[in-house]
This record gives sequence, structure tokens and C-alpha cells, in this order.
Amino acid sequence: MKKILVITTGGTISMKASFNGVVPSLSGKEILELIPQISTVADFTLYEFSNIPSPMMTPQMMFELSNYITSVIDEFDGVVITHGTDTVEETAYMLFLTLQTLKPIVLTAAMRSNEESGLDGPRNLLNAIRVASNKKSMDRGVVLVINDEIFSAREVYKSSTNLTNAFEAPHYGILGIVDADDVIYYRRSELRYKYQVENLEYRVELIKLYSGIGRKFIDCSIDSGVKGIVIEAFGRGNVNPEIKAGILDAISKGIPVIITSRVPNGRVLGIYAYEGGARQLEEAGAIMAGDLKGEKARLKLMVLLGKKMNVAQIKESFSEEIG
Ligand code: ASP
Repeated sequence: MKKILVITTGGTISMKASFNGVVPSLSGKEILELIPQISTVADFTLYEFSNIPSPMMTPQMMFELSNYITSVIDEFDGVVITHGTDTVEETAYMLFLTLQTLKPIVLTAAMRSNEESGLDGPRNLLNAIRVASNKKSMDRGVVLVINDEIFSAREVYKSSTNLTNAFEAPHYGILGIVDADDVIYYRRSELRYKYQVENLEYRVELIKLYSGIGRKFIDCSIDSGVKGIVIEAFGRGNVNPEIKAGILDAISKGIPVIITSRVPNGRVLGIYAYEGGARQLEEAGAIMAGDLKGEKARLKLMVLLGKKMNVAQIKESFSEEIG
């Protein structure tokens, strides 16, 4: 039987009623007890990393989790991490970026708390353990298993606040499924890369644009000593003239500026040459992030700056984002 490490971090999968809402309650042991058949699937070890709602998760904690997995991975055949759905795609992507192992690293979560009927958490966790203990799961990158589907950490995002099929990877699709009899893979992701890094640079801001926005958040970021800025721009990566001026100021101070889009799907690209169009930003030295979402581009920039990369090297690394 495969040796699987189950790491619990909190999230709705651990939540029960308290006062007038649900809060993290169940211990790791109590979560595992919801799946009586677990001992027939794998020989597992439990580690309780935290018991928090995932909006409280930080990049520091994500990196700590990555380092912990690296320190113990030789003792296990695979790892399963339970997490809140709100930031699971960020923790998954941090692990995707920083873990070197080829062994299965599987995140899972729940949309329904332990107060609701039709619990999805126990099923998702059992499926995640089945994926982590399946030999076909080697060398597939970090994955999210939820709603019987397997997603790449690079490609997936939460697209519904309430449905149990809350995760999607439009333009990419799922990597595979977990069926009653087997784990079935359809493809491998084209987007695979990883970085060996000892420290992250956490002073990176993400700024989302909206109509009429001025440059105050960029100025505030520069004044506070930020080391990198990610802009969630309009459409193909365009901004307004005032934001463009702010971006140019940041670049002139040696701060790398990454352009992503606030649109859920599709690539940013220098097509538009008007004042603030992505073409102008590219020519001024801003770095295009393909279709990588803002939250993930921020984590990647933390990793690249942590490796002390210069702007040219950061640009080269973001050219991996061909999606
Ligand atoms: N707010 C919860 C969390 O992310 C949602 C969930 O787990 O589904 O911790």
C-alpha cells in the first residue's frame, strides 16, 4: 500500500456551526474519520499544518508548507493537502512553482461545510488520496482534485462562489477524472516549470484596474518600497494614460511591472498602440504574463525576485506563460 501524507490546513472541509455561522472546527483526525474506507486505499500519516479559513493563508505560510513537504517527501509516495477553496489555487501554484519532487502533490477542498447535506469534502478527500496513491500520477505537476475532476495548479481557478463544480480551467480543460473504478488521465499540461528558491521577496503588490482609476495605488506601492508590481489590466493588457505614467515611473525606479488581465480567460498582448495600450507598455519595459492570472503572477514574481533575477531574467521567465 502507498504511503500518503495528509496535511490539513483548514477551510470549509473542516467547518462546523458556531454562533451564527460556520468556522474551522474539525481536527485532521476528525476529517479523516469522515472517510471510513480510507485505510483500504492508502497507508496514511496525518500532519495538521493549520486550521484556518483560507482567506487567512499567506504567501509566507504557502512557502513554509512547500519547505515542509520538501523536508519529508522522501518518506512518502505522495502528499494530499486539504485547504479552503478561496485561496487553494494560490497555495497549489506556490507548491507547483517551488517543489522539486516528481511525486504526486494533490490539493483538495470542499464547498459544503459539515452542516450541509450532500457533503462534498469527504468524497473529494477520498478521491485526492486515490489520485496521490495512483502510479499514473507521477510527474504531473501539482494538481487540484475536486468534484471528481483533476486540474493543473497552473491552469485552474475558482469560478463560482457557491456551486460544488466551482473550479474550471477554460481553454485548457481537466487533466483527468476520478471514476468509481480508476483514476483516468486524458493529458499532461504543457505548462510545467519549477524554481529552486531559498527565500521569497514578499514585497510585491497586485493592483486591479477599473474604469476611471488613477495612479494612487501605484504611487502608494512605490512609496512603500515595493519590489515588484503586478497590474490586473483591462482586456488585452491595456491601461489608461495615468496608469501608464505610473507604470513608467515604477519601471524607471527599477521595479519590474507585470501585466495580466482582469478578464478571466485569454492572453495579454501588445496589440493596441494608443496611450496606455499594451503595445506601449511592452515597449516601455513592462512584462506580459500571457494568460497567467494576477494572483498567480504575484506569487511567481515573489519567487523570481527571491532568486534575485534581474528584469531581463524575469521577462524570460514570464515568456513561459504561453497560454
Ligand atoms: N471560505 C472558505 C475558505 O476558503 C471557503 C471554502 O473552503 O470553500 O476557507
